[in-house]
Amino acid sequence: MNHDQLRTADNSFVWHPFTPMQAFVEENAPIIERGEGFDLFDTEGNKYLDGISSLWCNVHGHQVPEIDDAIRAQLNKVSHSTMLGLSSVPSIELAKRLVDITPDGLTRVFYSDSGATAVEVALKLAYQFHQQKSEGAGRRDLFVGVSRAYHGDTVGTVSLGGIDLFHATYGRLLFQKLAVPSPVTYRVPAGYDESSWIEICFAELEKTFEENHEQIAAFVIEPLVQGAGGILVHPEGYLRKVREITTRYRIPLIADEVAVGFGRTGTMFACEQEDVRPDIMCMAKGITGGYLPLAATMATEEIFEAFLGEPHEGRTFFHGHTYTGNPLAAAAALASLDLFESNNVVANAKANADIIRAALAPLSDHPNVGEIRQRGIMVGIELVQDRNNKTPFPADLRLGHRVTLAGRQLGIIIRPLGDVVVLMPAPAMPGDTVRDLCERTIQAIDDAISSLT
Ligand code: PLP
Repeated sequence: MNHDQLRTADNSFVWHPFTPMQAFVEENAPIIERGEGFDLFDTEGNKYLDGISSLWCNVHGHQVPEIDDAIRAQLNKVSHSTMLGLSSVPSIELAKRLVDITPDGLTRVFYSDSGATAVEVALKLAYQFHQQKSEGAGRRDLFVGVSRAYHGDTVGTVSLGGIDLFHATYGRLLFQKLAVPSPVTYRVPAGYDESSWIEICFAELEKTFEENHEQIAAFVIEPLVQGAGGILVHPEGYLRKVREITTRYRIPLIADEVAVGFGRTGTMFACEQEDVRPDIMCMAKGITGGYLPLAATMATEEIFEAFLGEPHEGRTFFHGHTYTGNPLAAAAALASLDLFESNNVVANAKANADIIRAALAPLSDHPNVGEIRQRGIMVGIELVQDRNNKTPFPADLRLGHRVTLAGRQLGIIIRPLGDVVVLMPAPAMPGDTVRDLCERTIQAIDDAISSLT
């Protein structure tokens, strides 16, 4: 199909995720044909710098020879075979590698294929664990999470989520959960200042566990940064506190590292920064270098052992998807982990964090920039109508989206969360390219704001 035929067919047949379709068909969004390094090229020959690493997953760039070769080599062996009752070479090798690089204590790897499924698996594991654990079964069905969380779009993960725009519609379908307040300070409730509000957030953690610990199945957290909530950066010590309390009450801690894992916060996994060992850890997005759908839910031996027994005892974990642990994806993941080591990718991401901070400094007194939130190479720039009283722009202006459109004119792909402009460069992106991305983003913000008048 040529470009015009593709455009017509896209508008006629394709339903895009998380996309207002009526507006979409009028926008002539780029139709991506090819990627090379950190650039994407569309069917009209335009080149774009991939500023959100293809939805927070690309790590080493596009068409990376080492990953391409690993997938081709695996193609010559087998593309897919089931993990239900069978095994495959790359899925075993990858499990061992993941156990080696994740926090101590996580010894078992359960595969699936997206971030949402990785968290869904974690919820079901924790729920079943309590019913089957050796020291007296208990029925615990209350999950606790953080307000404004995002853990995926399946019914289970939406139940845990707290972003009204995405989650409110499904309210009556969802299971009950408790949410502790997100420990962030940009807009604190009336009567608090920043530090008293953070104190309350820590105190609410204590209170929630004190009052409900007998029903709680697990605590679920995006460690250090709540991504889709608007790049909400937690204060130092919060994750550690969560671990301390969950350990005290012997409640499993589920770390959702889907967004923050694989170098995004400046360490391979965010939990490392507070020396936290979760009981269950979820990963997806960057696990294959952003190449193929693969996810993993890792668990401790204690959790795994609760699922052991004679087959007729019914302690099996009844979960598993057709493409679970796909060999092509596992081969890509192994090649990606090799590149992490050979190219010092985590150190590169860490250095890029400083480059981003310096490059975005001109925005710090911009009249329409309320806050720049950053942890590692995860960045959210919150745009507001009035910087002094933090008044948002009217939602119908879709300013964040306008920044995306202005960015395309400047040759960058970015995607906002409401009026929070998100930058999520690939961990392996060279520093000069990251600086260029920041400069073009500043220009896109100014162009979008000018377009309002
Ligand atoms: N968990 C977190 C923290 C995420 O940021 C996301 C996606 O952005 C998910 C889970 C869901 O991942 P996926 O879109 O691969 O299902």
